[in-house]
Amino acid sequence: MSKKVISFHYLLTDASGKTLDSSAGGEPLTFLEGVGQIIPGLEAELHKMKAGEKKHVVVKAKDGYGEKDPGNVVEVPLEKMPTPNIKAGDRFRAGQDSHSPVVTVVKVTKTHVTLDGNHPLAGMDLTFEVEITEVRDATADELTHGHAHGPGGHHH
Ligand code: ZN
Repeated sequence: MSKKVISFHYLLTDASGKTLDSSAGGEPLTFLEGVGQIIPGLEAELHKMKAGEKKHVVVKAKDGYGEKDPGNVVEVPLEKMPTPNIKAGDRFRAGQDSHSPVVTVVKVTKTHVTLDGNHPLAGMDLTFEVEITEVRDATADELTHGHAHGPGGHHH
């Protein structure tokens, strides 16, 4: 069975209805099925839909970005931080390259900083309003590369 490449517009809100992310005003998001490009709970629903279809999808935390792992929250002495000018809510990469995990500063005391390495959306139930714009067979290149090409997907 050949894999599909699915393009869709989305509006992502949290449980209180606050908008967290949206593709409005831009290209739809394009992904290759079955390679983990998007969260599993959303992919499972999109997989069943056709071009032009709209749907309200609720994704539980466990099918989204996972539950928060307390083991990913660490306390670091302030002097180990690259700069003392840190405040709660700051986010930065834990390493030099672009694949290093992003951590969020949750607390700053006179001596220590508490860092949370969980995904910012971990532990949250997510609500999506989605609209499928295109469903097509993946090209041989896309299957080889393991990602979608074209607008909203991956560009070489
Ligand atoms: Zn590629």
